Parts: sequence; structure tokens; C-alpha cells
Amino acid sequence: MSLKEIFCQDKAIDSLQRACGAGRMAHAYLFSGDDGVGKFTTARAWAKMLLCEDKQMIGDDPAFTDSCGVCHSCQLFESGGHPDFRPIYKELVQFTKNGKNKKTPVDMPIDVIREFLIDKVANRPTQGKFVVYVMDEAEKVNAASQNALLKILEEPPSYCVIILLCSRLDKMLPTTLSRCQLIRFGQVAEGRIIERLTAEGIDRTEAVFWARFSQGSLGRAIAWAQLEIKDTTAYALKTELIEKIVFLELTDAIDVAEWMGKTAKKIAAAWMSSSDNVSTTDITRRAQKGLIRMIACLFNDVMRAASDASAMQVNHDQQGCISALTQKIDIETAAQNVELCYRMHHWVDSSVNEKLIFEQLLLNLSNSDILLGS
Ligand SMILES: [Zn+2]
Repeated sequence: MSLKEIFCQDKAIDSLQRACGAGRMAHAYLFSGDDGVGKFTTARAWAKMLLCEDKQMIGDDPAFTDSCGVCHSCQLFESGGHPDFRPIYKELVQFTKNGKNKKTPVDMPIDVIREFLIDKVANRPTQGKFVVYVMDEAEKVNAASQNALLKILEEPPSYCVIILLCSRLDKMLPTTLSRCQLIRFGQVAEGRIIERLTAEGIDRTEAVFWARFSQGSLGRAIAWAQLEIKDTTAYALKTELIEKIVFLELTDAIDVAEWMGKTAKKIAAAWMSSSDNVSTTDITRRAQKGLIRMIACLFNDVMRAASDASAMQVNHDQQGCISALTQKIDIETAAQNVELCYRMHHWVDSSVNEKLIFEQLLLNLSNSDILLGS
């Protein structure tokens, strides 16, 4: 993919191009933005352009430089075998000296950083003028490892370009930030996500739901909408979950909590089957948080519906459920439930036991009086 073909990240690409056009191309970048908004895709396209042997200049005010797509380097790049493009990710842990059979951890292992970046930067490009390193999930590089990276970020060799991808800017040390050119990635517009999902064959009603649910993250929308689960779909599970919550009784709370636990596992297993050696903990947490966020969206819908009947709903496809809940609870309770969901969301990241989280969530929701109609 070339820079011109990137979907909806014009602003970020524009910042890259302007600095480059003005002769201020950075050697250390920090691409910041939510998961799934196109940071890695852009980093790849930027690397492909830097490595291209016949760069194309399009226009001159401002100049837009892109890869040619046909030279030897571009072809190597597209085949996935360019030796001067070096992605760095947690899963490389199994290829480190002491990493045989090691499971992928939640944090970025220092061995990966050392063996695939720090020890490698002295190696000159094998093909052209640059070697481009792209580190995924830089927010998972702990403070000690960020400190180990400082020297390289401060003065990378002239042929070296390092791009850190990060979804949590608050996790980066000020010293790391100060050494990188920050490029911000915004959310993708809802209409563009819907357009993309329907082009992939997703039904429009479902596409609208996933676009709103994923809040501008195209990658997240695609991951959910195209999930292939045995005998069901993520969309069918979400409609079932919403119904369970709307008609929840205190006596069902534990059963529904158990259903959520099993459903999260099912979703995680489906995601896992389509990727290699990913962190099981990461994927399971992602599924758990997704289900909790679906409930938060429902109560947000109730809040919106209570103040404006024509307001846009995430669960636009389950209006009956939203109406039923709007009859039962007031805005204040809905707001408390949204807050409760976000607290549970945070618990997932804090490694609290999953069973406890779902039980706490469901018991609280079913106990909010109004859901019981009292
Ligand atoms: Zn080329």
C-alpha cells in the first residue's frame, strides 16, 4: 500500500510530508492514536516510501512524496521480505536467545528490544539508504526499557528511522516523547467505516452498529464485524447480550455473568485462531472489555434517548430494548451504570479475576432497583 492509498489519515500523513518536504525528516517518530486507526499501515507505507528506489513526487505545494510501487525495493517490500524493514513486536520473544517456547507476555520484553533493535542499529542498510524499525505497542515498553532506548532515540545513525506506535501517550516517559516527532492519528469518520464494512460484505445494519461501537477505530470495527465464531457471529452475541441486560433480574445475574465469561472466551478463541502466537491474556482482555463496552453503549443510548428521542444510537438496531430500558430507569441510574461499566473495564486491565468482574457488574446492574421495576 502506498501513502496515497491510506484510508482517512490525511492529517497525520500531511504532518509527515510537510516535515519531510521542509528537510526536517525525523529519525525517531511516535505515532499516537487509538488501536485500529491505521498507525501500523501508515508506518509501513512511510517505510516503503523511504526505501523506494524511485520515489514519486506528486505536486509541489506542498510536495507529496510516495513510493513508486514497481521498483525492486517496492516489490520486495510488498512480498514481505524487505531486509531493511524491521517490525518489532512482543511475539518476537520466542526468537530471542533465551526465548524458545516462551509465551508472549503482556508487556514488551526487554530481550526483544535489545536483540531486535538496540543490538541491531549499528547494522547498515542492505539495500538502500535506510533501515526502518517499527515498534508496535510502545505503550507496553516499561520505564526501564524506555530508558534503555533513549540513547538510540537521541542519536540514531543517519540511516536509521525508528517509529514507535502507541495508543496510550500517558504511558510514555517525557524523555521518550521529547526525542520523537509526535504524529497524532485521529478517529476514522463513521461514514467511512460503514462504507468500508459494507464493501466487505457486512450487512448495513450491522455495519452501522460496529462503526458506532468502535468509536472511529476502523481496525476494531473490522476485527469484530468479521469475526468468525463457531455456529454464531459477534453481532448475534451482541444482540443476545443487550436483551439479557435489558430483561435482567437479580436471580439471573450469576447465570448471565457466567454466560459473559464463556462468551468472552469464545470470542478470544476465534481471534486467536486467526493470529499467530499472540498474547492470550491480551486477546482475552480485549474480548472481556468489548462485552463490557457493549453494555456501556446500551446505557449511553438510554441516556441519549431520555434527553432526545431522535438522538443517534449505537444500538440503533435494538430500539425496542432501548425503549424498554428507558421506561424502567432514569438518566441518573443510566449514568451510574455507564460509570460502573468503565470501572469494570479498568478492573480487566488491572488483572482482577474475570469471574469476579462479571459477577460484580451483573449483580450491581440487576440490583439497581429500577431494573427490577421497583
Ligand atoms: Zn519503488
